[in-house]
Order: sequence, then structure tokens, then C-alpha cells
Amino acid sequence: MNESEIEGLRKLFEVFCTKQEFILNPDRAHVDFLLKGLIEFKNTLGLMYCPCRIRTGNFEKDLELVCPCNFFIQETWIKENRCWCGLFVRR
Ligand code: SF4
Repeated sequence: MNESEIEGLRKLFEVFCTKQEFILNPDRAHVDFLLKGLIEFKNTLGLMYCPCRIRTGNFEKDLELVCPCNFFIQETWIKENRCWCGLFVRR
């Protein structure tokens, strides 16, 4: 993994957030930590699984853990305005 991979994913998510009710967390160090985890999973397992949740081993079920997940249903989004990991926060 190199810096350009991290920057590429950051830019991808920034575009993804355009015109959404959420943005990337302004805490850059936290985001970098999560982006590295996502890239690591992509490079080793083929999919960007959530870096802060445990996979079940059931492929179908674990697809729900591919980032970005449907975090609007998460309690952290409803109560704390962030996805479970804090990669995305309410705008
Ligand atoms: S909780 Fe956040 S970091 Fe984890 S998969 Fe969902 S959107 Fe991605």
C-alpha cells in the first residue's frame, strides 16, 4: 500500500460524499487509519470490508460490511451523526 492508494480512495469517497447529507470525517488522521484498513482488506480479501467490524465468514452476510455500508440504519448515525467507524459524519 502506498500514499497514492490512500489519496485515491480519499478522493473517491470525497466525490461519493458530494451532495450527500454526510462528508468524510474532518479528522484526517482517523480517516487515514480507516482508509489503510480498507485498502488492506481490498488487497488481501478482494473487498473493502469495514475496518472496525468482525466478518461472520458468511459471504452473503458479510457483503453488508463492505464499505460504504448502509450506515443510515446504525445507532451511531441516528444518535451520534457518524457511521459506526466514524469514516463518515453528518454534514
Ligand atoms: S461503518 Fe463506516 S467505515 Fe465501516 S463500512 Fe460502514 S461506512 Fe464504511
